[in-house]
Amino acid sequence: MQKRLSADEYISGVLSGNRIILSRTITLIESQLPRDNETAQNVLEGILPYTGNSIRIGITGVPGVGKSTFIESFGKYLTSQGKKIAVLAIDPTSQRTKGSIMGDKTRMEELAHDSNAYIRPSPSGNTLGGVTNKTRETMLLCEAAGFDTIIVETVGVGQSETVVKGMVDFFLLLMLSGAGDELQGIKRGIMEMADAIAITKADGDNLQKSKNARMEYVHALHLFPPNQNQWYPPVLTCSALEKSGLGEIWKVILDYEKQMKNSGFWKSNRQEQSLSWMYAYIKQFLENHFFENESVKNNIEYISQQVLTEKILPIQAAKKLLELNK
Ligand code: GDP
Repeated sequence: MQKRLSADEYISGVLSGNRIILSRTITLIESQLPRDNETAQNVLEGILPYTGNSIRIGITGVPGVGKSTFIESFGKYLTSQGKKIAVLAIDPTSQRTKGSIMGDKTRMEELAHDSNAYIRPSPSGNTLGGVTNKTRETMLLCEAAGFDTIIVETVGVGQSETVVKGMVDFFLLLMLSGAGDELQGIKRGIMEMADAIAITKADGDNLQKSKNARMEYVHALHLFPPNQNQWYPPVLTCSALEKSGLGEIWKVILDYEKQMKNSGFWKSNRQEQSLSWMYAYIKQFLENHFFENESVKNNIEYISQQVLTEKILPIQAAKKLLELNK
């Protein structure tokens, strides 16, 4: 059993860049134990003045597209440029399996051993909302620990994109060149969220196909209305294996940062994100409060059965349960 640290010990450990303490602090904020909650809040308040100075990048793409390999190569490129990077991996599938994705850690082995990189695979909690709150907080902790580039990984299916888009400055979509079916299976909504698309595995026999795919995406993006921030998402090609195209992607991110800081969008976007975070937190709190209520817990199974056997309408059932929570 590890000795419990005080909030001040956590804070000074994180601020000094101590990775062991950083990891313990993330575990603390992920903790569901009520006694950890207060310490966690105090720690977050303490580190708040030291946060916000990083570039926050979301990276998405379907499983197998090459995210881990890309993050490893891109991460190594960034550390070679003197950057300090933190990678937060989110895995919605662990919601089902209840496991964390330690696999990713080994897949990014080289980066994991880089003294200027920190990798944190996050097991997701019971809800996507829960993941959101902790991921944002984890991002702040990493910033306070001195990481200037934060990468948030997501698996490119479903709701997690929207969630991650809502907490980063730049959203990169990784795609593959397929056998002529480039535009199939990609949700339009996800493409619309992207600040850049990178076609990865552009190497060997795949090189020409990737270049063709690039043109198709360029045309596809032209059909979308311009973004409110007047940014036109570029489409690039890269190979994580051959380590090509990585500098170009970084340049796009830096150009974006410059333009958005000049226009004021960078700041207003973060302000909006903070407000959404507040609302997300309220919703989460109310939900937890409801499901932890003793009368709700005692009756929910019985009332659910009544819904299943059509003795009561779902809306009546919901009202009954909500009454119990008063
Ligand atoms: P993830 O599921 O999106 O994280 O994908 P991975 O990073 O695990 O990659 C899936 C497979 O694609 C692995 O077998 C990688 O070796 C391969 N891969 C990843 N990046 C590249 C690349 O740039 N070029 C080639 N040829 N293969 C790659």
